[in-house]
Amino acid sequence: MLDEFVLDQKIVTTILKNAVEKDRYSHAYLFETNGYKNANAVALAFAKYLSCPNHFSNNKNCVNCTQCKLIDQNAFSEIKIIEPDGLWIKKEQLDSLQAEFMQTAVQSKYRIYIIHNAEKMNASASNSILKFLEEPAPNIIAILITDNMYQLLDTIVSRCQIISFAKNDETKNNMIEKIADSIYVPSTLDKSTLDKYIATVIHFVEYYESKKENTLLNTQNLWHNVIDDRDKTLMAFEMMLLLYKDVLNVKMNRKVECYDQILSSLKSISEKNSIKNLIEKINKIHSTKEKIKLNMNQNLLIDEFILEMRCDA
Ligand SMILES: [Zn+2]
Repeated sequence: MLDEFVLDQKIVTTILKNAVEKDRYSHAYLFETNGYKNANAVALAFAKYLSCPNHFSNNKNCVNCTQCKLIDQNAFSEIKIIEPDGLWIKKEQLDSLQAEFMQTAVQSKYRIYIIHNAEKMNASASNSILKFLEEPAPNIIAILITDNMYQLLDTIVSRCQIISFAKNDETKNNMIEKIADSIYVPSTLDKSTLDKYIATVIHFVEYYESKKENTLLNTQNLWHNVIDDRDKTLMAFEMMLLLYKDVLNVKMNRKVECYDQILSSLKSISEKNSIKNLIEKINKIHSTKEKIKLNMNQNLLIDEFILEMRCDA
């Protein structure tokens, strides 16, 4: 059960086990995966932990009880898993779940529903679940799982206890790999150097998006100390292009391609920019990339770029 995940997710498993042992569980949990691949499995293990009468005596595996056997066969009527039906999770899926759960539990003390990819709930599904969360029925527990908490309604998030999974190196490595796969990277470049360039670009963009033209005062530290020749500049602009494309993805509720490790940054930048602004900025980055190839003075190039990124009008 939950013990399988202790090594990966010590804090999360401790919180969940304490909740059951102290009988102080929440009616709604929001699992923020942070890229952790086994979050769905943890949710099911938690549901099993709640449902199994032997959970205190046997944390690892329970082979004896009817509940666990049924859960393993995906035939336990008190645990329901909802997944997107096509692109979206639809209102009808939640309505039939709710109708079923309004009856009293028969096989277990708790009824638990788990929503995979909760960010895929369309507007009417979101409103339906919200009503359910607003009037929690006793012994019904919701577990919403999402890679992107920011795509959920604030009113849903505020009604859930947020369980944030630990980011592991794998997530970060994934981001570096995805970026490296999308741009030209010289084969001689090692990963930690690449990581340093990516971090510099992220920091530069975050700084620019909050300080705007004042960034001009700080370009030495923010940029030139690390990105100090033409090839690096070109690579950095490729990275920046992917970053702004991901901001646009967040803005348009599309899947983030590369920068999933910095979702909250993407979200905050997307809130400061209209779609039109983001497209303009992406175009500016493109045109600056062309200028880099002309071997311009690097200082001048970055200064001009910062000024050209103003497109708030
Ligand atoms: Zn059991």
